Parts: sequence; structure tokens; C-alpha cells
Amino acid sequence: MSWADRLSPTVKAVPPSGIRRFFDIAAEMKGVISLGVGEPDFITPWHIRESCVHGLHKGYTSYTSNYGLLELREEIVRSIYNDYQVTYDPRTEALVTVGVSEALDLAVRALLSPGDEVLIPEPCYVSYKACVTLAGGHPVPVPTKMEDEFRVTVEQLENLVTPRTKVLLIGYPNNPTGAVMPKEELTAIALFALKHDLIVIADEIYAALTYDGTHTCFASLPKMRDRTILLNGFSKAYAMTGWRIGYALANPDFIAAMNKIHQYTMLCAPITAQLAAIEALRHGKDKMKSMVAEYNCRRQLMLKGLHQLGLKCFEPKGAFYIFPSIRETGLTSLKFAEELLKTEKVAVVPGDAFGESGEGFIRCSYASSFSNLSQALEKIDHFIKQYQ
Ligand code: PLP
Repeated sequence: MSWADRLSPTVKAVPPSGIRRFFDIAAEMKGVISLGVGEPDFITPWHIRESCVHGLHKGYTSYTSNYGLLELREEIVRSIYNDYQVTYDPRTEALVTVGVSEALDLAVRALLSPGDEVLIPEPCYVSYKACVTLAGGHPVPVPTKMEDEFRVTVEQLENLVTPRTKVLLIGYPNNPTGAVMPKEELTAIALFALKHDLIVIADEIYAALTYDGTHTCFASLPKMRDRTILLNGFSKAYAMTGWRIGYALANPDFIAAMNKIHQYTMLCAPITAQLAAIEALRHGKDKMKSMVAEYNCRRQLMLKGLHQLGLKCFEPKGAFYIFPSIRETGLTSLKFAEELLKTEKVAVVPGDAFGESGEGFIRCSYASSFSNLSQALEKIDHFIKQYQ
């Protein structure tokens, strides 16, 4: 029996990430313009880095409480209250995690029994289905369409809910489409969750990157606070992907259950990142807003540019992705992305990496400089002319 044969069937059931694949190929090539990676191109603002260095000088190098530094939990809870008027107890209802990634993993592992179904609007972030599968659950994709601006409807959810459905996992602003959900539609979804007694995991990591209108925090909707696990973090809003820091807010039972896993597997998030996160919340909002304003200009550049190339494109309202249709070229998403990389050295992610309903689209990240984006648009133009 080979080593590979001996692996756990659950691990074998999870495909490798379609994003990583492209990232790895592009990293081997020289002169690639990458619109592939979902990561800010800014470095973490200096005062946030400085606060970490200062903490190290002062000798803050130890473990913290499993829940995270109380000071940080207090800042998180305060910031959520200021933004959305939802109240959490920092002692029992907040858990600091190693990125939203860990919080997501803990949430599904804490909630799911084998075979429990999780409704996931699609296209969706690559980790959602994988995490649910690894936790023994069964992901149920709910396809959304460009014509509906990639917003999920109650009707679509009603068609797929079953007595085994336990959780609804939503992520708005959405990766990869940039879709956001207006408050009225989220309210309808909240009623759906109540009707079917579902727990909602709301990944709001891109909340601060909402360009048109304001973000609606799912936990702020009537009767949703206690049935929602709210996930958020610092990676995108504060350009802190490498620090690995995020958090979950929820009722004390959910947080205690998540912490039961976290305390044995992770112990705590790194103290250095926790110190930096306190600084980000206390003094980082202005810089964060200026980065968001910059993404907004780039969003408009990409939207206009892609329309001029004749690619059908829904106007993203949040995050830093744009998701044009490439159906008219007659290529599959994968072929398009592979050929574009090979011939024009532009890296994008094929839409099917985000689920079957992403087929026919590519994800372009505009967390990249104006000059990179303009050059990439020219190269995409050159590339698609061959297929017109
Ligand atoms: N959720 C979404 C929707 C994401 O796009 C990402 C990263 O791309 C994550 C979570 C992971 O975030 P973190 O860096 O906080 O683990």
C-alpha cells in the first residue's frame, strides 16, 4: 500500500485549491503580472508594525489567554458595536483566532455532526466547501447568477434546504464576485434561517471594503445575534495577511465550543499579531479608509477597462475582485486562465475554482497597482482578440 493510499479518506476527498495551483505556476515564471492573489498589495501601515516591535522590545513574547488578550477582545467588541450596534461580552463571546481561516474551521468543527448539510451560496471562497468536508459535513452549493448580481435568494435556498441542513454559510462582500447583499434581502434570509432553525456562519472579512452603501452585519438583524457566528479579521482591511489574526463573535456556548478545539490545537493566536491588531483597531481606521479609497479607484479602472474589451462584467460592490464572463471567447475558465498565463503572462484565477457556478468566468484581483492593472488590461485585450 502506498503512503498516499494510507491517507484519511476525508483528506483525499478534498481537492487541492485552484488558486494555489495558479499561484505556484505564476511564481515559477518571470515577468508575470498577477491578478491572481487575494491579498492587499500594501504593506501593513507602519504604526501597526511599530506597535508589534515595541511589544517585542518590552518582552511580550509569551502565550496569551486561549481567548486572546482581553484588551484586544475589548477593542474588537467596541469596534463591532460602533460599526453595527451589536453588543458582545468580550469575556465570553469573543475568540481571537489565527486568521478568519482558523475561525471558520473551528466554527464548522464545533457545529457539525457527520452528514450535516451546510448551504453555501456559490461561487464562494475556496475554503468553505473544503472546511465543511474536513469537518465531516456535507456542503450544499447554492448557485447564484450574474444576472442576479450573484446575490442568493430565499427561493434558491428553499429549493435546497432539507431536514439535514444545519448551517447556512455566507460571505458578503463576496470572494470571488464582489457581490454584496442589501439589508432587505439579508433580512429575508434571516427569516429563512429562523424558519428552518439554522445557524448562520457569516464571514464578513471584506466588510470594510464595501464601496456602494454600507455593509449590513448579519448578526445585527432581528433575532440573528444568537444564531450567528460572526467572523472577521485584519488580513484584508488592514493589509495584515501574513500576521494571521482574526476573530469570532457569537453566543457563549458557540464560543466555548470553538475554544475547546482552539485551546488544544492552536493554544492562542500569536501575541505579536494580537498587539498589532489592538493598534489597528485603535489608530488604524484612517489609513484603512485610504487603502479602501484606492481599491475603489482601481475597481472603476477595471470595470471600465473590461467593459471596453467587450467582456460582460457585473459591477462588484465590495472586496477587491472583479469577475468578468469569458463565455464569449468559447474557452473554458481553466483554458482561458492557462492560455492567458502562458501567452501573455497575466495570472487570473479560473472561475470554476470557486465552484461549478463559477465556470465561464475568471477572477481578477485589483489589489494591484494602476500600472499593473492597465498593462494587464492591454494584454487581456490582445489575448481575447484572437477569439473574436
Ligand atoms: N474568508 C474569505 C472570504 C477570504 O477571501 C479569505 C482569504 O482570502 C479568508 C477568509 C481567510 O482570511 P484570513 O487571512 O483571515 O485567514
